[in-house]
Amino acid sequence: PDKATTYSRVMLKISGEALMGDTAFGLHPPTVQRIAKEVQTVHQMGVEICMVIGGGNIFRGLQGSAQGMERTTADYMGMLATVMNALAMQSALEELGIHTRVISAITMNEVAEPYIRRRAVRHLEKKRVCIFAAGTGNPYFTTDTAATLRANEMACEAIFKGTKVDGVYDKDPAKHADAKRYDRVSYDEVLAQHLGVMDASAIALARDNHLPIIVFSLDEPGGFKGILAGDGTYTIVH
Ligand code: UDP
Repeated sequence: PDKATTYSRVMLKISGEALMGDTAFGLHPPTVQRIAKEVQTVHQMGVEICMVIGGGNIFRGLQGSAQGMERTTADYMGMLATVMNALAMQSALEELGIHTRVISAITMNEVAEPYIRRRAVRHLEKKRVCIFAAGTGNPYFTTDTAATLRANEMACEAIFKGTKVDGVYDKDPAKHADAKRYDRVSYDEVLAQHLGVMDASAIALARDNHLPIIVFSLDEPGGFKGILAGDGTYTIVH
């Protein structure tokens, strides 16, 4: 890695909606390709990269259950949505020449590898990008929790949470001109103030394992790499 790089293995968490671009549903391949290029710049620094992608651009369990579906079935549909997103990202990364493995928490051997921790670690050591799909494999969880869980298991040094804004604000910056961005904020403050970084179980899991969460803008070209190289705007939850 570059001298400026402080992290050698990171988890990148993005929502499913990040793959929609300006469309209202599903996948927007040019947007997937754009994000893949951001990942490539970090991969070129020698950083080992894990990824978790949500499924909200296709299906969310809570929405399904609100419309009368049985909750666990709806959640499994949400997990399957994350597998589709993972495959789209794998395709875009491999198009750039980056070896990528999709590793699913729900076995579907024809489509993705099963999750075997030591095997995944080996992929990372060989500089393959690992995309962890199907969340935790359990209903009632989210992909934020899956990202935190896998980041801990893979001994990632930080979670990079790519969002539409360049950090955590005290109120919604899209609605309030005087919203203030935090440079640093504690896990407990995020929980107490309901700052909406990730859901509470993910924040608690990160806190209990001292895993920093870096919230940054995925819309900023070069932003992901910039932070790893030592600059850029972001909030660190610690
Ligand atoms: N999901 C689940 N267990 C998990 C991860 C995800 O049941 O461990 C389901 C849940 O229904 C969720 C959906 O998958 O609504 C999509 O994930 P998420 O909402 O976290 O996606 P994002 O908001 O990041 O796009």
